[in-house]
Amino acid sequence: MKSLLIQGGRIIDPGLKLDEAGSLLIAGGKISWVGGAKESPPNADYDVLDAEGLIVCPGFIDLHCHLRQPGFEGRETIATGTMAAARGGFTTVCCMPNTEPPLDNRNTVEFVKATAASEGIVRVLPIGCISRGQIGEELTDMGELAAAGVIAFSDDGEPAANSDLMRRALEYSCTSNLPIIDHCEDKTLSEGGQMNEGVVSAELGLQGIPNAAEDIIVARDLLLSELTGGWVHIAHVSTEGSVELIRRAKEKGVRVTAEATPHHLTLTEERVRDCNTGAKVNPPLRTEGDVKALIKGLNDNTIDIIATDHAPHTEAEKRQPFELAPFGISGFETALGSLMSLVHRGELELATLIAKLTIEPANIIGKKYGPGTLAIGSTADVTIFDPNLEWTVDTKLFASKGKNTPLAGERLKGKVIATIYGGKVVYRDEAVG
Ligand SMILES: [Zn+2]
Repeated sequence: MKSLLIQGGRIIDPGLKLDEAGSLLIAGGKISWVGGAKESPPNADYDVLDAEGLIVCPGFIDLHCHLRQPGFEGRETIATGTMAAARGGFTTVCCMPNTEPPLDNRNTVEFVKATAASEGIVRVLPIGCISRGQIGEELTDMGELAAAGVIAFSDDGEPAANSDLMRRALEYSCTSNLPIIDHCEDKTLSEGGQMNEGVVSAELGLQGIPNAAEDIIVARDLLLSELTGGWVHIAHVSTEGSVELIRRAKEKGVRVTAEATPHHLTLTEERVRDCNTGAKVNPPLRTEGDVKALIKGLNDNTIDIIATDHAPHTEAEKRQPFELAPFGISGFETALGSLMSLVHRGELELATLIAKLTIEPANIIGKKYGPGTLAIGSTADVTIFDPNLEWTVDTKLFASKGKNTPLAGERLKGKVIATIYGGKVVYRDEAVG
C-alpha cells in the first residue's frame, strides 16, 4: 500500500489535546508522521490528499448499531452497513446482537466476525447477548462470548426486564471488565406506545410512551450497578430525568457510562406530527426540554459518547401506517451533518463533538479495538470532513439498505469527505477533489 499524505488540514485530536493546522503521513497502515501544513515528510514517495479547509480527526467509533446480519439481510448486511458507516465517517462500529439467530453463542459471533473480515470495509466489533435468545430468562455463557471477542453485552431492542438477571450480568462485568449495555424501557409503561407521551401524542390521538418508562429502569440499573460494582452503560438516553439520574450516580462514583444519539440530540416529537414513520424510533423523540438536557449532559460529561443506534428497515416495513411501522432510524450517513448543527448553533464545541465520537468511545471499548487517536504509531483510522459544506439528504444515495430517516430531503451543513480505515481510503466523496 502506497503511503498517503493528508496535507494542510485542521487536525483535531481531542485525545492528544491537538487542534492545529498540519499534515499527516500514513505509511504501512499507521500514522507515521505529523508536521506543519507546509512541511514535507522525509519519505518522498506518497500520494497526496489535499485537506485544505477540512477537519482531519481520528476515525469515528460507534458503540451502537444494528447491521441486521444474520437473519434480516433485507434490512441491511454487514457489507452494506459498513459501506454506510464509512460514508458517515465511522471506522469502527459495534453491532447489537438482536439478529436471527441472536449473538448469544460463540458460533454466531464467529460468523459475524468472519463475514465482517471478508465483506466489511470498516472494523466490526460484535456485542453479545445478556440472555439466551434475548428472552430475559437465563444468562448467556458470558465467558465463552468474551473469549469469542464480544466487546460488551446487551439485550438491546429488549430491555433487561428481570432485575436479578441484570444484577448477575453486572456481577460478571466486574471480572470481564466489559460493559453491560441496557436499553432502558419499562414495558408495562410503554406497551402499545407509538411516540412520546405528551401534548403532541394527545393531539394526534396516538398512544404515548412516558419519560418514566425510561427513567425507572435507568434508576434501577444505577442501583444495581452501585450494589454490584458492575459497569452499566445506558443506551440511547432520551429524557431529562435519565440525564439527572446518571449525573447524580456519577457524583456518587457509580460505574456508569452513557450515550445519546444524533436524533435525540437534534430532533423533537414535533417530527412525528405528519405521521412520518421515518421519525418513529424507540425511545421516542422527546421534547425541547429533554433535548436541552441531553446537550447539557454531553457538555458536562454526564453523557460520555454519541452513538447512532443505526437501525435500518425496509421501505415496505416503514411504508405501513404509523401504528404498524417498526421503530428505528437509519443513522450512519446523516450523523455528522445533523450533529454539526449543534456546533454551528454554538451549543457544542467542535472538539467536544469529535471527542464524543472518537477518544471517548475508544476509552469504553478499549484502544486495542479502535484507536480513537492520531498518535504516531496508531492504526491509521482517519475521518476527514468539511464542517461547512451544505448538502441535501438524498436517501437514494445511501449505501445503507435502510432509507428510513426523518431527514430525507433536508439540508445539512457538514459532510464527511473521506474515511480512511487502517491506512486505506474506504470512502471518498466524489463531488469533492
Ligand atoms: Zn435500543
